[in-house]
Amino acid sequence: MSASYQHTQSVQPTAPSPTLTEDMTGRPSPSPLQYAFSGKTSAHAGRGGQPPFAAEVAQQQLTNLFGTPVKAQGKRALYVHIPFCRVRCSFCNFFKYASSPQLMEQYFQCLLVDLERKAAQPWSQSQPFDAVYIGGGTPTDLTAEQIYSLGERIRAWLPLRDDCEITLEGRLNKFNQHKFERALAGGFNRFSFGVQSFDTQVRKAAKRLDDRETLLKQLKSLTASNSATIAIDLMYGLPHQTTQSWQQDLEDTLESGVDGVDLYQLLNFQGTGIQRALDNGQLDSLMDTPQRALLYRQGADYLNQAGLKQLSYCHWASTDKERSRYNRLAKSGAEILAVGAGAGGNIGGLSYMQPRDIEPWQTALEANQWPVAMMMAKGKQHQRNARIVGACDQGAVSAELLGEQRFKHAIPLFSAWQQNGLAMLDDEKVTLTLAGQFWSVNMANGLLAYLNENPLAA
Ligand code: SF4
Repeated sequence: MSASYQHTQSVQPTAPSPTLTEDMTGRPSPSPLQYAFSGKTSAHAGRGGQPPFAAEVAQQQLTNLFGTPVKAQGKRALYVHIPFCRVRCSFCNFFKYASSPQLMEQYFQCLLVDLERKAAQPWSQSQPFDAVYIGGGTPTDLTAEQIYSLGERIRAWLPLRDDCEITLEGRLNKFNQHKFERALAGGFNRFSFGVQSFDTQVRKAAKRLDDRETLLKQLKSLTASNSATIAIDLMYGLPHQTTQSWQQDLEDTLESGVDGVDLYQLLNFQGTGIQRALDNGQLDSLMDTPQRALLYRQGADYLNQAGLKQLSYCHWASTDKERSRYNRLAKSGAEILAVGAGAGGNIGGLSYMQPRDIEPWQTALEANQWPVAMMMAKGKQHQRNARIVGACDQGAVSAELLGEQRFKHAIPLFSAWQQNGLAMLDDEKVTLTLAGQFWSVNMANGLLAYLNENPLAA
């Protein structure tokens, strides 16, 4: 994703004085990486839509959608949610239920009902799925037989492409050889482990289990088997992290032999253990956004110089096995079939959330209703917007993607990005600089706001 400057004289804005705000353009700064915006506007770009439907309308909408085979050939994925964790990590505000074998078995049986019912619908059967993602929570806390059974049922009940990416997310802790083998037998071909940091002190403070040596040994064993894609998440901005410990995390990542790595910024820690530690004085302070930005640059530079392939602003692949297909589809607005309590889906221009609590989700299933807590239409521009979000995520917005006329129309914004050190503009595309990649969510939101507030003349 290296940016290269070419001439810009031949591309001219079509509107004389469009509305441009600092939220769209960023602000001038000697260090745009650190100061172009005051903070990340949200964890993901392009969220939002119309007001939610009333419950009975949502039921009817889903019945209509699921009952209709799709004609379009867009990509689609399945997301299955497992809302259990054994320990709550200090930075997490996703934790929902403590893992217990009884509760998980009860949940698992309901999950199969949800899955089978949705899989049987004409919508689901009419086109193969490109990716499956079992996320959480900690899906690897399922038993070996539950993991096997889930993979097997998904493959039996849903049409999947031959090269479908089937990911199991989770922790390395207690993910033993037997579980790995049963997961492989069930059809899983990709594993995504939350490591966050290899540093034992950072891990302890974050309430992560296992020390550095244990993690490295386990990852090396998994990758040496060469039987699946192994990816990990790292997080920057955690308490006790330093430039040196982050560097060691990056080096450990390469040493572990994993096929892919995500670099995530610590965000949205309100209501977490970190927030409580700050409030009660156990923790003096946290890195601010400009400090975290420097860690992002350190990580991106290191991984790029090591020859990894950058697949998005935050994801790198070290082998061709890693495709990160589910994440790419989800970020670019592909249709997602959601299964499980707390799962979020997106089909037919509608987004929907299933109840976060198990009880209402289970009650709806038992009443033969769709378990839906909230549903809304995504707005008529949702496909274009999703393409923009996906393009910013991957570091460049092209005239081809945006349409020649709209690309020219957005040149005042792109020029401002360039002046602020966030992008490089040429006739065919605007390419985010490293600083722009760090702020890619803000920039995607900025471009969407620009197009919204400065509509193209009909
Ligand atoms: S394992 Fe994941 S979902 Fe569970 S508490 Fe930790 S970060 Fe949150």
